[in-house]
Amino acid sequence: MSININRLMNDINELGKIGYVDGIGTTRQAYSKSFYEGRKFVEVLMKNAGLKTNIDKIGNLTGYLEGRCNEKIIAMGSHIDTVLGGGIFDGALGVLAAIEVVRAMKEAGYKNSHPIEIIAFNEEEGNVIGGTFGSNAFIGAGFDSVMLSKMTAQGLTKEDFYDSKRSSDNYRCYLELHVEQGGCLENQGVDIGVVSGIVGILRYKATVIGKSNHSGSTPMNLRDDALEKTCRIISEMMEAVRTFSDTMVCTVGTLKVMPGEVNVIPGTTEFIIEMRDVNLDNVLIIIDKIQTKWCERGFFVEEYIKQGETFCDEKLMKIIENSTRKIGYSFKHIISGAGHDLMNMAKFTPSSLIFIPSHMGISHNIMEFSKKEDIFKGARVLYETLIQIDKEGRINEN
Ligand SMILES: [Zn+2]
Repeated sequence: MSININRLMNDINELGKIGYVDGIGTTRQAYSKSFYEGRKFVEVLMKNAGLKTNIDKIGNLTGYLEGRCNEKIIAMGSHIDTVLGGGIFDGALGVLAAIEVVRAMKEAGYKNSHPIEIIAFNEEEGNVIGGTFGSNAFIGAGFDSVMLSKMTAQGLTKEDFYDSKRSSDNYRCYLELHVEQGGCLENQGVDIGVVSGIVGILRYKATVIGKSNHSGSTPMNLRDDALEKTCRIISEMMEAVRTFSDTMVCTVGTLKVMPGEVNVIPGTTEFIIEMRDVNLDNVLIIIDKIQTKWCERGFFVEEYIKQGETFCDEKLMKIIENSTRKIGYSFKHIISGAGHDLMNMAKFTPSSLIFIPSHMGISHNIMEFSKKEDIFKGARVLYETLIQIDKEGRINEN
């Protein structure tokens, strides 16, 4: 096996130059000129690697390599769009490393049994139409009216969306290599993150009702101060989250105090509670506990956003672990706090996500950086995992 790390680094740096502005970073937002230029660059790499390329109606690029047997496709990939002023590794790594894996596999003379498809998703970042839009269309997950009006603004129709859907019957699995975008692996000196899942998100509109009154003539023992209750509720909630779970996070990032006068006791507060965890049932336990305690004192919550948690395929995780062990790298199980195309792909075919360390955990930023040796390790694990799955498929068939 011979991952050519210099060749891969060169591809990453070259793609990273497309849309790059000094001091700002790389900008290749979906449907922009630089995005199309970047996609063209990747398309040429795919063709040079002997892949048959295709671009669907919503802009996902795929590269297909026939297998020796008529088996289901092993897919690998990520996205090639970026945020405004992003880094050069987020997304690009998963696509370019997959291309390098195929090149290395061919050079090693390995004849793949399964067809292999590399997917470069469009609009993962979501600032143009919606988060993970490309993979959403790929699996045919659907769109709402807000997304539809944004699609129309890009000249896309409902039919374009439906035409981009693939059949899950044709796929064996999906593998995504990605930078961690957090500092856990680097901090702990671990080479590879075997991702077990992506956190789900619940957001609640919260209201606390008190009684507004004169700030001078109302003694402390006769007050029903909505803001004071709010502070207690938030503190209790944060404490409960810390005690209950190592993985759950809770954020209150907005707070509206009414009527909002310096000499009036607050009568009402409104704020948003955002909770994330790999197990949203645990979030419900915490919310229920706080609500039960405080509901008679004027605390109300209403769920308004729910994005379910994603679980990676356990069999694939085992194969990634074995591959990592075989090469001699260290690994740990890790949970992703950030969303990825894998959230869609996991609903479509067994899917797994491999992380490599991000320096200082910085991402979506010009400072985003992963070391060459870590990229090498990630690509080697992806290669080994692909081969294991390809061989295992044949064993199952015999
Ligand atoms: Zn990404």
